[in-house]
Amino acid sequence: MTLVTVEPRPCADPNCRGQHAPAERVALAMSLCSARGAQLTELRRRILELLWESGRPTGAYELIEALKHEEARPIGPPTVYRALEFLMSQGLVSKIESRNAYVACAHPERRRDCLFFICSNCGASAELEDLRVEELLAEDAAVLGYHVARCVVEVEGTCVACIAAGAS
Ligand SMILES: [Zn+2]
Ligand SMILES: [Zn+2]
Ligand SMILES: [Zn+2]
Repeated sequence: MTLVTVEPRPCADPNCRGQHAPAERVALAMSLCSARGAQLTELRRRILELLWESGRPTGAYELIEALKHEEARPIGPPTVYRALEFLMSQGLVSKIESRNAYVACAHPERRRDCLFFICSNCGASAELEDLRVEELLAEDAAVLGYHVARCVVEVEGTCVACIAAGAS
């Protein structure tokens, strides 16, 4: 068996739209976890890979279905949900509440708030990190004396490809 080693390359482009090779992002996740002493087990890594390969918000049952074809023993929903919880706690995955689906975070090395634009026509999502939004929300939280545990902003609409294809 030949092991292809992919080097993680932390992204330095503040305007990056997250167009990275899945294998590189998974390698980055592995190095982030090992630096933090967190266990990115085989299953957790595989789920992250599936989310990167899918490239759009993916439901837990779709993941279970995909794993069914490659794992010797069946993997139950609780196991998958626990793995997703771990990936979210490490900032590697975000949950898109409006879709009840999960998406790989483009830049876990930055630990920024994630801003998602979701297409209601094709289901694709684009992720941005916008410092202005982050600062506004931090200010608002401070006014309320609020401690923010998790911040994912979801914007629903029509993506550029669907607009070009005639959807509105
Ligand atoms: Zn990037
Ligand atoms: Zn993100
Ligand atoms: Zn679309």
